[in-house]
Formats: sequence, structure tokens, C-alpha cells
Amino acid sequence: MSGPRPVRAPRGTELTALGWQQEAALRMLQNNLDPEVAEHPDRLVVYGGTGKAARDWRSFDAMVRTLTTLKQDETMLVQSGRPVGVMQTHEWAPRVLIANSNLVGDWATWEEFRRLEALGLTMYGQMTAGSWIYIGTQGILQGTYETFAAVAAKRFGGTLAGTITLTAGLGGMGGAQPLAVTMNDGVVICVDCDPRAIERRIEHRYLDVRADSLDHALRLATEARDARRPLSIGVLGNAAEVLPRALEMGAPIDIVTDQTSAHDPLAYLPVGVPFDEMAAYAAEKPADFTQRARESMARHVEAMVGFLDAGAEVFDYGNSIRGEAKLAGYERAFAFPGFVPAYIRPLFCEGKGPFRWAALSGDPADIARTDRAILDLFPENESLRRWITLAGERVHFQGLPARICWLGYGERDRAGERFNDMVASGELTAPLAIGRDHLDCGSVASPYRETEAMRDGSDAIADWPLLNAMVNVASGASWVSIHHGGGVGMGRSLHAGQVTVADGTKLGGEKIRRVLTNDPGMGVIRHVDAGYEAAEAVAAERGVRVPMISE
Ligand code: NAD
Repeated sequence: MSGPRPVRAPRGTELTALGWQQEAALRMLQNNLDPEVAEHPDRLVVYGGTGKAARDWRSFDAMVRTLTTLKQDETMLVQSGRPVGVMQTHEWAPRVLIANSNLVGDWATWEEFRRLEALGLTMYGQMTAGSWIYIGTQGILQGTYETFAAVAAKRFGGTLAGTITLTAGLGGMGGAQPLAVTMNDGVVICVDCDPRAIERRIEHRYLDVRADSLDHALRLATEARDARRPLSIGVLGNAAEVLPRALEMGAPIDIVTDQTSAHDPLAYLPVGVPFDEMAAYAAEKPADFTQRARESMARHVEAMVGFLDAGAEVFDYGNSIRGEAKLAGYERAFAFPGFVPAYIRPLFCEGKGPFRWAALSGDPADIARTDRAILDLFPENESLRRWITLAGERVHFQGLPARICWLGYGERDRAGERFNDMVASGELTAPLAIGRDHLDCGSVASPYRETEAMRDGSDAIADWPLLNAMVNVASGASWVSIHHGGGVGMGRSLHAGQVTVADGTKLGGEKIRRVLTNDPGMGVIRHVDAGYEAAEAVAAERGVRVPMISE
């Protein structure tokens, strides 16, 4: 019987598998579970409450074994974190095909999912946990930075200097919030009920200080705001208590959002439950726990709406907290918008989304070289330059060194081909794994998040992620995944991912050109189809073929 143990991906140029495509999948699977990367590696949980990289340790061992011996014309099939077959395919085919957490519509509830999970038949894959391209908190940092920059542009004259943001959740993803706000020159108070989450963010330099109480946090925040000095402050507590208290006190908050694990009611701490008892209570009485968590979320969201009424900029950060509060009977839960329609959709129309790559060498100097290549390729993009420079200075790598930036249609393929050339010439010491988050322009159907309030009402149409996965398989991606649930929970989304390896070969370069053109191309055609003129303009300008429009 195999059990928990520390996992770390190999570094350097020596192969453990039969080729770099397989080696990349192997290293990225292991990297997802590296204690520096994963939130709870002993339970195979990478991030997002219960998002796992493998169903159990036996499955993990079997995947490692299989990837080590997998040939260039073979494909391993993974069903919710468990390897279920190896098929002969061909060298253009993905080396791994993954389907995680998918259930038939009427059965797609947390209750049924938990029942099947308890039987050992499935696992929750979240987005990049079960598709092996999670790169730690940096992965979300850039998207969060972009979102707060968009908030600044919309309401505060292009900077968050002189403003205070109040949010909760300092986990794997939520932990990016403090640094994203201070990178935009603002002040932020972040509530979390887990003292380790606060300590971890301070250790990784994502969070500046911890306050002893809400009063202390507000004092520190107003001093920094008045001096227009960026500062991030962690405070221990339950958000469903702290936010209502802050509202009652008339705290001078300008922006409110949230990134607790609200999408999974078993990962949100109900009011009155000590943090130390949370896990046992959730395991022993899931129905009870769920009801109390939802009631607490209703209080939490009610306070967010209170801040909205008081004039603050308030948005849902994609964790479904409005949906959960509504289930608990809070009628005004949807009084504030999700962040995608509020700030991100114009970027999606250009096929923009979170493009990321990891250095399989393990050498941070490889990432520094790719940073320079990005600056060289897109000299006219000022916000990209600011991000890459700040990231180079302030981002602490977790696991294999990696970088993320948002690039659109016509840009990602150029970057990918340049990276492949750099591997071929020896400028990079080993290949790169190039992928993306599923918080993306053309690979997600998620009516509370990526596809909320689509112009043509097509929010729940889930053909798009399936087409995206198929086009990535057909284009030569190294591994492709189709997931259900992701960041918003069971029954609420379908989404697909891809990772393609820049191995420095000619074939690798051809695959990269197709995948990194077609994958963001799905974002452009998705938004053209929904009637966005901005996407039509991008399609016309950059030559994306849309039969109903251009032919
Ligand atoms: P995580 O499980 O790693 O962290 C959640 C944190 O919330 C934990 O530190 C936990 O202690 C804290 N928490 C739980 N209940 C709380 C309560 N009542 N009061 C205060 N703190 C509480 O999860 P994560 O990876 O950080 O993701 C957080 C949420 O954000 C998820 O729902 C995820 O799907 C969503 N998310 C959204 C986006 C996006 O759209 N921008 C991106 C990533 C994640």
C-alpha cells in the first residue's frame, strides 16, 4: 500500500520518461503535489478547497509508473485522477487525456458527487489541479492584478493609491489578492480563519503584516491609505462575522470582494464552528455543515451588499458565494456583479487569458530568459512590461520556476514559437511546459463566472469547452483535459485545459503554432458568436475564420 510522502519533480535534463512530452506530464503532475506548491499535499489536494491532482496514492503511483514507460505513440487515459487505460495513438496525439469530475446533468450535485467520491469512483479536479498545470499562487496573481487594475481604471482614476479593499480568503488562489492590490498601490485587509494561511502568505511575501484584531487592521489601513502607501494586512477571523462587524463600525472601505472557498460549502467555515473542528465536522455531518455554511455565506454576502449600498465597488470574484447565499434564502445575493462581466470580458474578446509556462529544468534563470523574450516580443505593451518587471522582482517561485502573463490571439503562438527556438538553440537549459488556467476566454461554460451575462444569453451553453478540448487534441497538445465544477462547484461549469511542450524539436514547434493559435482562437469565435463587436473586429483584423460572418 502506498501512502502520503513528499513529492518533488525531477530537475535538469536527464529524462526519467521516454521523451520530453511524457517527462513534462510526469514532472508537472509531481510538481502539483510538491509541498511548496500544493495546499494539502498529504491528501493530494492542490488548491481550491478539495482540488486534487490524483484520486489516491495508488493512482498517483500508477500514473508515475505509466508515464515513465509511455511511448511516443501512446496515450494514457485518466478518469478523475486515476489512470484507466493506455491506447496506441500517434505522435501528434496528446500523451495524456484527462476527464475530471464529470457527471450527467441531473446527477451533477454535490450530494451525488460526494457519494461517488466516498465510493472511490471520482475526485474533484478543480481547474489546474487535476490538469497538472497549477504553478502556485503566482498563477492567479497576474489575473488578480489585471482585475484590480481594471477596478482602478473604472472607479479610482487608474490607481488604487488612497483606497482600502476588504476581502477574505488567503488560500492557494485568494492568497494572490494582497500582492495584487499592493502592486496597484492600494491598501487591503484580508480576513482568513486559518492562521497558517496568513503565515504562509507572509512567508511567501504576498502579505505584508498580520494585525491583532479588526480594529488594529483598520488603524493600520487608514494610516497607510492617508499616506498613499501600499500595505496588505492579514486578520484572523470568520469573514461572515468580520464583514458585518466592519460594516456596522462604518469602516471606510472602497472595494469589497471575496475568495473564500465558497464554491464548496464543505470548505467554508460556518459561524460558531472553531477552525480546528472544521474538517472533522464537515466529514461527519456534511448536510448539517452545508446548511450552516450557506447561512453564514448569506450573512457574509448581506454585508457585501451593505457595502455596495454604502457606495463601495463590490464584485464576486468567481467563487459562487452569491449562488450559495441565494440558496440560503438571501434575496439580494446577486445585487453586485461577477468580475468577468464587470472587468474581464473585453479582454476575452481578444482571445486574451492566462498564458503560463514552467521551466522543466528547475532553473530560475530559464524563466528570466523567457521574461526577456516576452519584453522583446511585445515592446509596445506597457502593462505587460510593468507586470513582467514586477513579477521578476517580487514573485517567489513555488516548485518549478514558472511565469504567467495574459496574451491574446496572435500573441501566444509567437511567444510559444520563440520559446521553442530558445530550447532548440540551448538558450534555455531544458524544455518548457506551456499551458493556461481554465479561467479562460474560450474553454469554459460557467454562468456565474466566465460566461455570466453573455450578450446573447448563451451563458449555460456547454458546447464550447467540448469543442475547445477537441480542437486542442486535433492541434497537437501534449495533454488535454475536460472538467466539471472547477472554481464554482458541481453543476455550475464545464471547462477544458491544454498543456503543450516546447521541446525544441521541429514537430514540437509545429504543434505549438497550431495549439497556441487555435486555443485562444476559440475565445475569439465564442465572443463573435455571442455578438460582441470587439471580437468581430479582432477576427477581421487578425484573420480568424468565422463562417457565419466572414465567408
Ligand atoms: P483555498 O481552499 O486554498 O483557500 C480558501 C481559504 O478560505 C482558506 O484559507 C480558508 O481558511 C478560508 N476560509 C474558508 N472559510 C472562511 C470563512 N468563513 N472566513 C474566513 N476565511 C475562510 O481556495 P483558493 O484556491 O484560494 O480559492 C478560493 C476560491 O476562489 C475558490 O472558490 C475558487 O474557486 C475561487 N477562485 C476564483 C478565481 C477567479 O475567478 N478569479 C480564481 C481562483 C479561485
